[in-house]
Amino acid sequence: MPVLADNDGHLTMDTIDLRSDTVTWPTPAMREAMANAPVGDDVYGEDPTINQLEAEAAAMLGKEAALFVSSGTMGNLTAVLTHCGRGQEMILGDLAHIFRYEAGSAAAFGGIQPHTLPVQPDGTLKLEDIQAAIRGENEHFPRTKLICLENTQGSVGGVPITPEYTAQVGQIARDNNLKLHIDGARIFNAAAALNVPVQELVAPADSVSFCLSKGLCAPVGSILVGSKDFIYEARRTRKALGGGMRQAGVVAAAGLIALREMTTRLADDHANACALAEGLAKIPHIEIDPSRVRSNMILFRFAESLPISIEELVTRLKNDYNIVMGGYANGRTEIRLVTHYWITRDRVDHVIHAMRELLT
Ligand SMILES: *Cc1c(COP(=O)(O)O)cnc(C)c1O
Repeated sequence: MPVLADNDGHLTMDTIDLRSDTVTWPTPAMREAMANAPVGDDVYGEDPTINQLEAEAAAMLGKEAALFVSSGTMGNLTAVLTHCGRGQEMILGDLAHIFRYEAGSAAAFGGIQPHTLPVQPDGTLKLEDIQAAIRGENEHFPRTKLICLENTQGSVGGVPITPEYTAQVGQIARDNNLKLHIDGARIFNAAAALNVPVQELVAPADSVSFCLSKGLCAPVGSILVGSKDFIYEARRTRKALGGGMRQAGVVAAAGLIALREMTTRLADDHANACALAEGLAKIPHIEIDPSRVRSNMILFRFAESLPISIEELVTRLKNDYNIVMGGYANGRTEIRLVTHYWITRDRVDHVIHAMRELLT
């Protein structure tokens, strides 16, 4: 099986890990930049690498300012705590990462009430549902403050949300004096999938968080962007959450490479996801619609006719082929595979070959 190694013999990610793009290792260039990064005390605003990263991130997303945070969860939490007060409401999807996978943090730390709406198969919330969810002024009601979108929408399979739709939601937000936050953990995947500039995708948003880890391969870190005033407040919120980091330029250095070099190659991951889906579609006992692949994620099911248990299949893939699979989506009825930097095309072919051997 193929092993990735660069000329200097740096460590490589030799397991074919398809569970998520969170498993990505930093690239050799990132490790080198981390070793050599200029640093300072970022709570004093003196880390040159973080300052550079924040300036470049804000410019790339077309916003005034940016804040380096430790994770996507911290970026989202910092944003919602900055936008909303206790007892106030945020409107978001019932499959949204913020609602499902962030340990109830907005409620736990901000007393913020989630008002969930059904996520449609195309990843959107119905505009009429959003309109209807906005509360009027009445002493009985919580005050609606925020609408959150997610792009790409992970739980429906990494579906990118269009700039046209986002602009419509932005209009609703402005008409009702609400803020719009985009959980853009994979916003660069969305931009690549739709072939639009990322600025256009986020133009209607008051704040956006995105991950430098995941498909962009940095080991740690996310960015929150917005207006200068918003980021000023968000810095305070981050400090309160224990997220003020000192010489974190050593991690921001990897983030700079993520921004500059890794955002431009994501179409390769999407092409590999398509190739993987098309290959799997030709294998017995696999039910998959390759046309559903929109970015770096694949969802599929095994047919009732599957001759071995899923657990046994997963074990044999690991032991015999060094392939890790096991990202269950939607209550274990679907398997999710995610392509990323370390899943090269020859590895895609190896996965298809392994599955064909095990299932025919
Ligand atoms: C990964 C992810 C996050 C943040 O996750 P962390 O593990 O905290 O970095 C937020 N939103 C979405 C949609 C994600 O996929």
